Amino acid sequence: MSDRIKLARADLHFYEEPIISGTRGSGAIFFSGCSLGCVFCQNREISHGGFGEYVSEGELADIMLRLYGRGAHNINLVTPTHFVPSIAGALTEARKRGLEIPVVYNTSSYESASCMEMLSPLIDVYLPDLKYHTKKSAGRYSYAEDLPEIAKRNIDIMYESRGPVCLDKDGLITSGVVVRVLLLPAHVAEAKLILKYLHTRYGDNIFISIMSQYTPISGLTPPLNRRVSISEYAELCDYASDIGIKNAFVQDRESADGSFTPKFDLTGVKPI
Ligand code: SF4
Repeated sequence: MSDRIKLARADLHFYEEPIISGTRGSGAIFFSGCSLGCVFCQNREISHGGFGEYVSEGELADIMLRLYGRGAHNINLVTPTHFVPSIAGALTEARKRGLEIPVVYNTSSYESASCMEMLSPLIDVYLPDLKYHTKKSAGRYSYAEDLPEIAKRNIDIMYESRGPVCLDKDGLITSGVVVRVLLLPAHVAEAKLILKYLHTRYGDNIFISIMSQYTPISGLTPPLNRRVSISEYAELCDYASDIGIKNAFVQDRESADGSFTPKFDLTGVKPI
């Protein structure tokens, strides 16, 4: 991607964790492109294919304010890493023009240290993935052996920046870190190591979202060509409970359904 912001969708979104989606929805802005290239990506049409429409920083600020005007609980920047310098300009403008809701940074966690520094004064809530514990999995599935190390460093920076999770009177997050752990088929042991790592390091000061929604795309080979089994997911959730994790979200089986992936049709990108 270039430094020109490209978007695929901007709309109220109801399928994030309940402390983010609330009752009125999260103002999700889906950026085109991605700093990773996961083989199982469900958003490949925009992350790999680059589908989207260019907008200026001022237009992105307009989009944020429109979502705010529609009642969004927050602005949710989805896969924004590669556009951070331009997003910083748009956010600063939107804040000056009256944006008063929290900003959520929804990321694969594959950022440089300088990018993390730029984000610190702008972001209220971090929503990072911690997909892998081993270099082997990260290299095989996302072509980035250094992802576990970089993601862990960045989650440390996020926690230092925002501290423990804060919720408002309605139970919506206003500040803090929610880490997403996506269970992959036949990877319960690795996911347990991730949960153990997170709980040992941050206790219940962060929330952990334990995700079962993995949905195989066509052309994948074993073990990635199937959904996560009920018993695999139950084993992981039991483990989370056994090691004392209290602030966790779990998913219904129905979440592993392609219909939960939003349509990338430029909704909300240009004013009607
Ligand atoms: S980080 Fe997420 S959006 Fe990017 S390629 Fe991987 S699964 Fe797709």
